[in-house]
Amino acid sequence: MTKTNIGTNSVWAGEKEYLVHGATQVPVVHSVAYGYEDMDEWYEVAIGNKKGHIYGRNTNPTVQAFEDKVKSLEGAESATSFSTGMAAISNTLSTFLFPGDRIVSIKDTYGGTNKIFTEFLPSLNINVELCETGNHEAIEAEVAKGCKILYLETPTNPTVKVTDIERMVKAGHDAGALVIIDNTFATPINQRPLQFGVDLVIHSATKFLGGHADALGGVVCGKNSLVSKIYHYREINGATMDPMAAYLLLRGMKTLQLRVNKQCENALKVANYLQSHEMVEDVFYPGLETHPGHEIAKKQMDNFGGMFSFALKGGVETIRQLLPKLEYAHRAANLGAVETTVGPSRTTSHVECTPEERAAMGIPEGLVRYSAGIEDADDLIADLEQAFQAISSPEKV
Ligand SMILES: *Cc1c(COP(=O)(O)O)cnc(C)c1O
Repeated sequence: MTKTNIGTNSVWAGEKEYLVHGATQVPVVHSVAYGYEDMDEWYEVAIGNKKGHIYGRNTNPTVQAFEDKVKSLEGAESATSFSTGMAAISNTLSTFLFPGDRIVSIKDTYGGTNKIFTEFLPSLNINVELCETGNHEAIEAEVAKGCKILYLETPTNPTVKVTDIERMVKAGHDAGALVIIDNTFATPINQRPLQFGVDLVIHSATKFLGGHADALGGVVCGKNSLVSKIYHYREINGATMDPMAAYLLLRGMKTLQLRVNKQCENALKVANYLQSHEMVEDVFYPGLETHPGHEIAKKQMDNFGGMFSFALKGGVETIRQLLPKLEYAHRAANLGAVETTVGPSRTTSHVECTPEERAAMGIPEGLVRYSAGIEDADDLIADLEQAFQAISSPEKV
């Protein structure tokens, strides 16, 4: 077969072998178990010598179609899926980390991931070293002391900091570590970390991959030798993706390229508008030339993503007034959907953290996370403009 491009793969990849009865769409197989009349065949499937399904906690055809599509988009040998993005992260870490091991990561990973690092791993006697995000020298120095895993996220949630993947892969592999990246923000449309030598790529499929905020899911992909170990951990521990969720995510992924390209375009336009607004203190978007990670982002990303954040003058109080005035934005703890979604970081990605922990991660209390949808950018900008005007001159409302 000829090598196709990522937009074509978003539509076609991974589906063919699951189509039955001439259907053009992958069916949702709700069956929990799979029956066999031939006892020898059943046994051969059960021990993995023959293709097939045994029990829904292990494998399911709809879920496998989802995994195959992600695998193709990330250019991976293998992929396995989970009930949520956090299950993908926690199961992956649990597969490889044991008491006495050490993991190096960055301070502003996703809030839930950060909780695993600060609360759960230490209680298992696993040493966690969290470095300043974007400080490559600090990460290299900690990794060189030896660690089992170097865990990264780029761009990060919510401050959208960028880390040089190629440089980190070298540091990690020199120290004999596995390099793992959460690629949720970038999506495979904008960034394919396996090409830079990353060992495992993780997604919260709940976000951009699904794109419609109606299904939870997670996925990890990479070399079969690693993914099969994670699959084994998951099939026993049970954080399996639901077939209905797999179907919704599969359907969402068909428009991944269209959506993400539009979201990138909208994010850049809105970020540019906000950057020149007198009530905005700061805008964090790697697509802006003023962003400290702009050059690295240009090197390793095809586009800069649909996510940015901005700090308002007047902090939390301005947020409290401004956000309710927006007509074309959900105020919700989600991102990556077709609708624009906004929220203060202290109530969304980092709600699990204390104000002190957020401050330590460099997240101002007045920070707003903005996930650009696929609306018309002019309308998104006009919506923000009317909200700003309403709060700056309340008598006009
Ligand atoms: C949302 C998110 C997660 C967690 O995913 P869930 O599907 O909500 O469990 C992990 N990483 C990043 C970057 C996220 O945005």
